[in-house]
Amino acid sequence: MILTAYALLVALPVALGWWLIGPARPWLDEASSAIAMMTTAALLLEFLLSGRFRVISAGIGMDRSLRWHQIFAQILTIAALLHPLFYLSPSGAAFERPDDPTGALVLGLDAASLISGALAWLLLGLLILTAIRRDDLPYRYETWRIGHGLGAALLAGLALHHAISAGRYSGAPALMAYWAFLLALALGSLVAVYLLRPWQLARRPWRIAGLERIGDRLWSLTLEPDGHAGLSYRAGQFAWLRLDCSAFSAREHPFSIASAPTDGKALRFLIKEVGDFTRQIGGLPLGARAYVDGPHGALCLEGRREPGIFMIAGGAGLAPMLSLLREAAARGETRPITLVYGNRHQGQIMAAAELAALTGRLRLDLHHVLQEPPPGWTDFAGMMTPALIQAEATQATREGWVFLLCGPGPMIRAAHQGLAALGVPRRRILEERFSVF
Ligand SMILES: Cc1cc2nc3c(=O)[nH]c(=O)nc-3n(C[C@H](O)[C@H](O)[C@H](O)COP(=O)(O)OP(=O)(O)OC[C@H]3O[C@@H](n4cnc5c(N)ncnc54)[C@H](O)[C@@H]3O)c2cc1C
Repeated sequence: MILTAYALLVALPVALGWWLIGPARPWLDEASSAIAMMTTAALLLEFLLSGRFRVISAGIGMDRSLRWHQIFAQILTIAALLHPLFYLSPSGAAFERPDDPTGALVLGLDAASLISGALAWLLLGLLILTAIRRDDLPYRYETWRIGHGLGAALLAGLALHHAISAGRYSGAPALMAYWAFLLALALGSLVAVYLLRPWQLARRPWRIAGLERIGDRLWSLTLEPDGHAGLSYRAGQFAWLRLDCSAFSAREHPFSIASAPTDGKALRFLIKEVGDFTRQIGGLPLGARAYVDGPHGALCLEGRREPGIFMIAGGAGLAPMLSLLREAAARGETRPITLVYGNRHQGQIMAAAELAALTGRLRLDLHHVLQEPPPGWTDFAGMMTPALIQAEATQATREGWVFLLCGPGPMIRAAHQGLAALGVPRRRILEERFSVF
């Protein structure tokens, strides 16, 4: 549904251009124009896709909407690279032809449009490269994000200038109106993300009510609503948190909610120290202000009627599974549940006692996988490999269970490979990735 709407919106300027003006040039020129118009439309729609709008992410999951944003950006980079290479027609006034009074067979490139096109080309490449290699850059995530947003806004301006001044179709009134519409959507997304949403969050503050070290570089954080009814969410969802800073701060990070809706108004998060932000979690003052942008995500069991639930989690990926397990126990879930939970060593296992207790309240089969097991370890040792998943999930696959995956990208890829080898259909796999690449 969302993909169809996206494809229609991207193709519409080409349809409008051909319908209103009609193709008159060599087909490669027309192909190049079409690529350019579709690329410009896709670029403007990227603002919507990356804006974490619930209307988009509720159905497909936040991680998938952000992954689509990345995949589409890579496709549009390739298209933009091809765009200038296709043109066969000569360019500029020097090639004006007496047999072509309308100028249809001559490209309308002047110096300004050439410069805006070339700059857009370079900037797009830079944005893609810095996004793919984000973790290798010597900047904080927030700095990268602000730069990425500003760069994207500049890119949209350059691309539009180039399209309108050099394109054969884009200057037509109907096309101009369409570009104005897409531009309004893009700018509206920026206003919503950077101004409206923080303003709404500022009116519903939270406070840090608990902070406890629960293992090796692991923290349990509890937030309580401050003067409002709290958050209405489903087990398995996550939220972007701003802790001890303004609601307008760029310093926000996503964390899965580890508590369950039936637990009450307080929200609990399980946080692993990995970088500059998470390493400072332990030093946050109790009672400090917090802001919760959520709920997001679709790693939820509502409406799933499969006869069993198979969970695969890595590291902090346990957090949403714990939420789902707590909710399942509170609601008297009777279906069998398997949890395969991977960590590097025993000190990194989150909520070990709680998990053990849940095996008594649910039909829960719990398996730990440790890369560095202690002496005498009787559960799985080694990495979470496709072969391990395949071996553990054979029976569940045969019985048609639903599979839930959460954790870092490499673990999710291994789980997917194992499930694909078993032939598990995509519709029976739900996932939330903590890292996209
Ligand atoms: C949907 C989702 C749910 C998550 N749930 C949990 C959880 O329950 N518990 C937990 O410990 N971790 C969770 N994470 C991971 C957590 O968000 C990152 O570990 C944290 O943001 C790292 O920030 P840092 O500055 O400490 O580390 P950095 O070294 O800056 O970053 C480590 C990794 O996290 C990514 N990252 C950093 N900041 C952000 C951000 N603002 N938004 C998105 N990615 C970012 C970086 O690109 C990098 O891949 C979740 C991630 C996602 C996407």
